[in-house]
Amino acid sequence: MEFTLASSASAKTALLSCHQMRLGSSKLPNVWRSSLWRSRSSRRNTSLRTVALSTTAGLGNTMEAPAANAQNVNYMWPDKKRPRICIVGGGFGGLYTALRLESLVWPDDKKPQVVLVDQSERFVFKPLLYELLSGEVEAWEIAPQFSDLLANTDVRFFKDRVKCLYPCDHLGTNAPTAGTVHLESGLLIEYDWLVLAIGAEAKLDIVPGAADYALPFYTLEDAHRVDKKLRELERKNFGKDSAIRVAVVGCGYGGVELAATISERLQEKGIVQAINVEKTILSNAPAGNREAALKVLSSRKVQLILGYFVQCITKGVEPQTSDAEPKSTDSAADHSESVTLELQPAERGLQGQTIRADIVLWTIGSKPLLPQLEPSDKPYDIPLNARGQAETDETLRVKGHPRIFAVGDSSTLRDRNGKLLPATAQVAFQQADFAGWNLWAAINDRPLLPFRYQNLGEMMTLGKYDAAVSPSFTDGLTLEGFVGHTARKIAYLIRLPTDKHRVQVGISWLLKSTVDSVATIQTMLTKAQSGS
Ligand SMILES: Cc1cc2nc3c(=O)[nH]c(=O)nc-3n(C[C@H](O)[C@H](O)[C@H](O)COP(=O)(O)OP(=O)(O)OC[C@H]3O[C@@H](n4cnc5c(N)ncnc54)[C@H](O)[C@@H]3O)c2cc1C
Repeated sequence: MEFTLASSASAKTALLSCHQMRLGSSKLPNVWRSSLWRSRSSRRNTSLRTVALSTTAGLGNTMEAPAANAQNVNYMWPDKKRPRICIVGGGFGGLYTALRLESLVWPDDKKPQVVLVDQSERFVFKPLLYELLSGEVEAWEIAPQFSDLLANTDVRFFKDRVKCLYPCDHLGTNAPTAGTVHLESGLLIEYDWLVLAIGAEAKLDIVPGAADYALPFYTLEDAHRVDKKLRELERKNFGKDSAIRVAVVGCGYGGVELAATISERLQEKGIVQAINVEKTILSNAPAGNREAALKVLSSRKVQLILGYFVQCITKGVEPQTSDAEPKSTDSAADHSESVTLELQPAERGLQGQTIRADIVLWTIGSKPLLPQLEPSDKPYDIPLNARGQAETDETLRVKGHPRIFAVGDSSTLRDRNGKLLPATAQVAFQQADFAGWNLWAAINDRPLLPFRYQNLGEMMTLGKYDAAVSPSFTDGLTLEGFVGHTARKIAYLIRLPTDKHRVQVGISWLLKSTVDSVATIQTMLTKAQSGS
């Protein structure tokens, strides 16, 4: 990798003129409705240098950006004529848009230069995070490095955090850039086209104590943290009769999948309680998935506390014993680090209750990250809904911004019936396909296509050999147990980002299931022999 410094008067002029135009405009359309939010960062030094980065063979396309707090430098795109696309966020929306752009056929002079920026060095296939807790998958399988995934492409990857955005495509001028992305390292990336895909984060500030004492399960790091905590508890309780008490807050897909996975992992060494404000679990899921989940949770003795919301979580207080509280089988159990959850009934007629847990997993709520990219010095005009997602038109372009596309959890769009699209990988994945195509169409002066979401069905893991899959095209059919598990794994294998990764993971899973099958047959044979 090689860094070359050069001056770029045009880039500087473009950026400054862009800023000036924005400051001078008194009629900016409304936005960043979350105007109460202010960046934690201080105002940046906008003095510009230009940096040209080029890759050398064998190093792939990953580039370390300049060190933090360095003076701002302007990224110099290798080609001055070809379109410049900057994609921020390398999840289901961002990474798959980059790969889609790579797969399209371009006229030579129009093939865009694509930069992908992500704060992490790994793409995370979030629907398979539960399998890290069951030991079913390894981190490299569900969280491959961007440098590996993009090794044979022209996409350049920056591991850096996007700090703020300065779009100017809405100003309708002939500025030589459609806007600039500021990275935490000080790198400034001018673009002709921008794709917003930074997703969302867990929302823990819903009740007092949740941020301090509950663990989210949203990122690879969260999954590692939960696994580590479970290991510690398993070690501490080894050889004792005491049960590890796990409280899962929320019984949507996330809560139910966690409760099923952890109860299977701990078996009789754990007591899993799942709390839900509604009187049922998975209220919006297909009935088949709900019934399959209820069967599995009941067979694993997961205690469902339904019709309650968590009022607060506090540290280590020994509460009055309540009927709902699980009885520890060991009076000498060490629960010194336990936490207490105060539960209030959601409806009249139920008593409040208090439960204790050694680990609390929080699965309720999420918070889109886009509002955090608002510049600290002034609000500007990306239209956001009340949750902080960019409002797009049907072609996935942000309203009022012809050069910005937004996909996945960063965006909001309604289907033809006026229903908001869910924040799911399925939506982000399908939008990436359209965003890639529509970028191609826009650059080649062709008509853009309206995005149409196709709900293919819903899947959930229920443990190592268990899952529920309700495809949308077979009304009322739910694949359960091992069949559902296999169908889900195959569906996700097909959706892994690249052919190479798919093959590597496919071989790895095949080997593991072969070893598992041999072990099962051996156990059966041993049992049969000892029985005879
Ligand atoms: C545990 C879990 C299980 C799930 N299971 C399912 C499921 O079974 N089916 C389903 O359809 N959906 C599922 N989802 C939802 C699904 O994963 C998301 O809807 C999907 O990932 C959204 O894609 P995205 O591209 O918008 O965001 P993400 O995939 O979250 O990607 C966002 C990327 O942006 C990066 N980023 C964020 N901020 C910055 C920044 N400032 N600078 C640089 N990079 C940044 C992040 O590092 C990340 O790589 C699950 C989610 C979770 C958490």
